[in-house]
Amino acid sequence: MQLNHWIAGAAVPGTSGAHADVTDPATGAVTAHVPLASAAETGAAIDAAAAAFPAWRDTSLARRTRILFAFRELLNARSHELADIITAEHGKVLSDAAGEVARGLEVVEFACGMPHLLNGEATHNASTNVDVASIRQPLGPVAIISPFNFPAMVPMWFFPIAIAAGNTVVLKPSEKVPGAALWLARLWREAGLPDGVFNVVNGDKTAVDTVLAHPGIKAVSFVGSTPIARYVYETGTAHGKRVQALGGAKNHMVVLPDADLDLAADQAVNAGFGSAGERCMAISVVVTVGDIADELVDKIATRAAKLRTGDGRLGCDMGPLVTKAAQERVTGYIAAGEQAGAALVVDGRGLAGDGFFVGPTLFDHVATDMSIYTDEIFGPVLSIVRVDTYDQAIELVNASPYGNGVALFTNDGGAARRFHTEIEVGMVGINVPVPVPMAYYSFGGWKNSLFGDTHAHGTEGVHFYTRGKVVTTRWADPTHRGINLGFPQTG
Ligand code: NAD
Repeated sequence: MQLNHWIAGAAVPGTSGAHADVTDPATGAVTAHVPLASAAETGAAIDAAAAAFPAWRDTSLARRTRILFAFRELLNARSHELADIITAEHGKVLSDAAGEVARGLEVVEFACGMPHLLNGEATHNASTNVDVASIRQPLGPVAIISPFNFPAMVPMWFFPIAIAAGNTVVLKPSEKVPGAALWLARLWREAGLPDGVFNVVNGDKTAVDTVLAHPGIKAVSFVGSTPIARYVYETGTAHGKRVQALGGAKNHMVVLPDADLDLAADQAVNAGFGSAGERCMAISVVVTVGDIADELVDKIATRAAKLRTGDGRLGCDMGPLVTKAAQERVTGYIAAGEQAGAALVVDGRGLAGDGFFVGPTLFDHVATDMSIYTDEIFGPVLSIVRVDTYDQAIELVNASPYGNGVALFTNDGGAARRFHTEIEVGMVGINVPVPVPMAYYSFGGWKNSLFGDTHAHGTEGVHFYTRGKVVTTRWADPTHRGINLGFPQTG
C-alpha cells in the first residue's frame, strides 16, 4: 500500500520520490510505503496551516469546542480501529494499544474545556476609569514531531490543545508508524474541522529540518530520543520558535526493605516489559535496598519466565520490537551485559518466528558503568542494581543524566515523602510504577529528558500554545484632555 500526506483536508501523494518501508513487526512483512517529504512538500503543508489560521483563530470558542466534542465522540466510538492500526505497525499488544488511545482521548476531553482554560483576568477601575484585562491568543501554525512508540497518544498530548486554543497544526509522525496520524486526520475531517487546520506531513530529517527553519511555524512540540530532542530544541529556538522537546529516559524503581515484594515484583514486570519496554516511562532499572535482592529477583524472574511473547493480535502478553534494527540493537545490549559480567537471570534471545521478537530479559548484579545501565536500551531488558541504603539509592537515581520517571515501593510514608522531595525527576510514583500524569496535569521530565521550560498537556500545554496579552482601556472622557509627558501613574 502506498501512503500519502494529508494537506488542506485531502490525501496528497508524495512527489519527492523518496519513501520508507512500514513493516508489520510481528511477521517482518513490509505492509506499506510511506512517502518522505521534500522541503517543498513540507512547505506546502505549512502553507496550508498558515492559510487556515486566520479563520480558525477567529472561529468562536463555542464552535471550536463543538468540533472538539464531535472528534471526541467519533474517537471514542471507533477507538478499536485506531488500536488495530497501532498494533499492526508498532507491534504492541492490542490491549496496550487500546490503553494508549484511551490516554490520548483524555487529552481531547481536557481540551473540550478550552473555554474555561482560556479564561483571562479582568480588573475594573484599576486606575480611575481605567479597566485592565488579560487574554490568551493562539500562536499560529505549530508543528508536532512524534516518535514511533506512541503513534496516537503522543500526538494527542499536543494537537487537541493546540487546535482548541485556535492554532493550526502540521504533524510529522514517525516514519515507522504513519498510519495512526493519517487515520486521525480523516477523523478530524469527519468531526467538521476546517481544511488546513490539521495537516500530516510524512518524512524524516528533511521534513524536520524544514519545519525547524520555516518562518511560518511558530512553535514546535517534539518527542523522541535525547540527541534529537536537544538538536530540535537548539535549532528551533535559534530560529526564534517556542520549543518543547521531550527526550529519552532511564527510569528507576527503588524498592525499600519494608515494601510488599509481591506487589513490587508484579509492577516491575508490568512496567519493565509492557510494550516490550518501548515506553519512555518504562522501568529499566530496579534498585533493591538492603537484603531483599535475592527474594525480589527470584519473584521477578518467575513472573518474567511465564510471559508469552508473540503477535500482539493473538492474545499474548508482549509483542515484538518495532523493527529488525531495534531487535538487533537490544540483543546487542544483552550480549554486552553478559560480557561486562552482569548475571543474566532470564535471557529473551532466540525466540522463533520472523517477527522482531525479544523476550523478557533480566540482569542481576548490574554495575553503573555497564552499557546496560548507562544507555537507554528501549527494549524488554530489566537490570537489578543492589545498594545497601536508602541514601545510596537516592544518590544513584540523582546521578542519572535522565530525569523522566521514577518509582518508589515502600509502606513507609515518611520515606516516601522524603523521596518525592529529594528526587531529581519530573514524574514520581509512590507504589505506582508508571506515573504518567493525568491529562489535566502536565507530562514531562527533568534534565536530559526535556529541553525547554514547558511540559506537555495540562495547563502548561495551554500556556505553550497561547500568548498572553494585557489590554488597558479608558474610554474618552473630557477630563482626560491635556498634555503630560510623565510616565503613566495610577490615580
Ligand atoms: P527518534 O528520536 O529516533 O525520532 C523521533 C522523531 O524525530 C521522529 O519523527 C523521527 O523521524 C525524527 N528524527 C529522527 N532522526 C532525526 C534527525 N537526525 N533529525 C531530525 N529528526 C529526526 O525517536 P524514536 O526512536 O522514534 O522514539 C523513541 C525515543 O523517544 C526514546 O528515546 C524514548 O524515550 C523517547 N520518548 C520520550 C518520551 C517522553 O515523553 N520523554 C515519550 C515517548 C518516547
